[in-house]
Amino acid sequence: MRILVVEDEPSLNALLANKLRKERYSVDACLTGTDAQDYLACAEYDVIVLDVMLPGVSGLEILRALRSRGDKTPVLLLTAKDGVQDRVAGLDCGADDYLVKPFSFDELLARLRVILRRSAGNVDDVFTLADLKVDCRAHTVSRAGVPIALSSKEFSILEYMIRNRGAVLSRERISNHIWNYEYEGGSNVVDVYIRYLRRKLDDGFSPKLIHTVRGTGYVLREEG
Ligand code: CA
Repeated sequence: MRILVVEDEPSLNALLANKLRKERYSVDACLTGTDAQDYLACAEYDVIVLDVMLPGVSGLEILRALRSRGDKTPVLLLTAKDGVQDRVAGLDCGADDYLVKPFSFDELLARLRVILRRSAGNVDDVFTLADLKVDCRAHTVSRAGVPIALSSKEFSILEYMIRNRGAVLSRERISNHIWNYEYEGGSNVVDVYIRYLRRKLDDGFSPKLIHTVRGTGYVLREEG
């Protein structure tokens, strides 16, 4: 899952980015609203953590611009303790949730999980497809009850695919959601990881769940 963190206080920005990376999110972080607009113009995010009070372009302006062009990327606002008006305005213009500073990192993580669950149309962090079970909180995977060990990147790709089960995902789209800006690998890396995932998830199991859509990309679905 790829997250954009927009927070102008350098120490909080660095802390959030580091902690989120440790939680295995792929993180881009920036300090200004203008930079945020550049990131948003070039990449797709699964969720945006957006400070309201930013120098220059404010968090609310960024949010409004997103929603007015029909972009539904979930947004969690960070607001000041006395920022009631900001919170109301934020929710009114399409924020999914907000946190009041100072907040605990555990609460931020919990809110992010709720947002991601909601956007995937799931009631909890466990996704199933046929006999495949993916627990996005515990980071565990099994097929027919057999535990399957995945590397962190393999898990990220599977997580993205199962959250979007049934949808054909291009290589570019998958790589966009898994790797942040610092990564330079090219989209054929996705093919390599899909091969690993197939070996672990589909070999020896039926039905096959990872399908290639020629000329387009990959889809995780039960066919038959
Ligand atoms: Ca701020």
